Amino acid sequence: MTQDRQKFEKIISLCKRRGFVFPSSEIYGGFAAVYDYGPYGVELSNNIKSAWWKEMVQYREDIVGLDSAIFMHPKIWEASGHVKGFSDPLTECRKCNQRFRVDTLLDDAGVFADEKMSEDEINKIFDDNKEKIACPNCSAKDFARAEKFNLLVQSNLGNLTQDWTKDPTYLRGETCQGIYVNYKNVLNSSRVKIPFGIAQIGKAFRNEITARQFIFRTREFEQMEMQYFVHPSEEMDHYEKWRERRWKFYLDIGLKEENLKWHKHENLVFYAKEAYDIEYNFPFGFKELEGVHARGNYDLTQHSKFSKVELDYLDPVSGEKYIPHIVETSAGVARTFLAIISDAYTEEENEGEIRVVLKLPFKLSPIKVAVFPLLKNKPELVEKAKAIFDDLKLSLMCEFDDNGNVGKRYRRQDEIGTPFCVTIDFETLENDTVTIRDRDSMKQERIAIKELSNHLQQRVS
Ligand code: ATP
Repeated sequence: MTQDRQKFEKIISLCKRRGFVFPSSEIYGGFAAVYDYGPYGVELSNNIKSAWWKEMVQYREDIVGLDSAIFMHPKIWEASGHVKGFSDPLTECRKCNQRFRVDTLLDDAGVFADEKMSEDEINKIFDDNKEKIACPNCSAKDFARAEKFNLLVQSNLGNLTQDWTKDPTYLRGETCQGIYVNYKNVLNSSRVKIPFGIAQIGKAFRNEITARQFIFRTREFEQMEMQYFVHPSEEMDHYEKWRERRWKFYLDIGLKEENLKWHKHENLVFYAKEAYDIEYNFPFGFKELEGVHARGNYDLTQHSKFSKVELDYLDPVSGEKYIPHIVETSAGVARTFLAIISDAYTEEENEGEIRVVLKLPFKLSPIKVAVFPLLKNKPELVEKAKAIFDDLKLSLMCEFDDNGNVGKRYRRQDEIGTPFCVTIDFETLENDTVTIRDRDSMKQERIAIKELSNHLQQRVS
């Protein structure tokens, strides 16, 4: 096993052991490419979403939020092109019958291929490079012809007379379609004027072909998307600004810059002006974290055509009427989660032992402060610790822990990335001071209880 794979396996194991991520339906043998978020996972995930929402909605006067439904009119997916064109090229290993995405197999072999190529184009490249590509599962070099496989997930939602096999309702394949079809509602009900954005965080569903990539590629996942509506002549200016802002966002939430890079799309869909992905150096290599795309007016034009509703914008000052162009920023919660944990995962030597610590940025840590009574069988210590916990929990996500000895409690908090541990000992009972232990330096300092809350809030923020 390579070192990177080893690190990845350790991260997956820590995520399960410490309650970040569980395989779905585990007691029934699991359910492929679906995961559940445990007690610390849901906190980290919420903190990522909150950082994104602050940056994209709260701190901006020109962007508003939206929460559109997962079920939408089936015509939307025809208009968007998903019913016909939302597919990946799939192949099957003839020896072990495992299925793979051909573009990913080619990519891993260092051959460029794009998921948007036609079936014939991709089969030609696949044939030409046959010798280079072995099955990641059984190493055989015998694959079936690649076929396009539609990624939309169908449901049987509908009334009893509807034949849903002919006329299916889909679980949405991306959140942004909910934004496009609500563009007029937002325009008419809020005070936005072009240029403006609509932001949304929500679930999306895709029939993905996956290959042991943990939460990187799942069939149910969350997206954080923002569509920015602009005048056609200003599209590329806004696009460049959004590229800069989105790059900075990842630095602000603590990712190391050397683990980020830009990837320019060479094979653009016909309507797009330019598209870049921000890639992160995951333990399995640089892969997409977020897409920033200049999409022209394709989305609104298509929805206007299919719905027969005018989706023009009337400039209140110049009187000009036009269909806005769109700059899209589209990120995944789980991929950001995995990037953050991969960046933070650290093993260091400490007194002859290996200490595992998640050096998460404080604002993303699931638990900010852990409160310990030194001994659990001393009621006066427990009572005092509970009182401190009850006070701190009003402003910070805290955890009370009296299990095992203090060393063991530190190890557990290090592994879930808690920046500070507060211990209540016998000296506390004499002079109302406690010790604070810092996760990264492991240094301890004594501080008066009356200063504790302020001190911790300042350091966490
Ligand atoms: P990929 O090429 O990796 O399949 P994509 O280009 O299809 O991704 P988009 O449709 O642009 O992805 O979706 C925007 C973002 O949503 C991606 O950058 C990613 O962070 C996230 N995302 C997409 N598909 C998945 C998935 N199956 N599981 C988890 N996150 C996903």
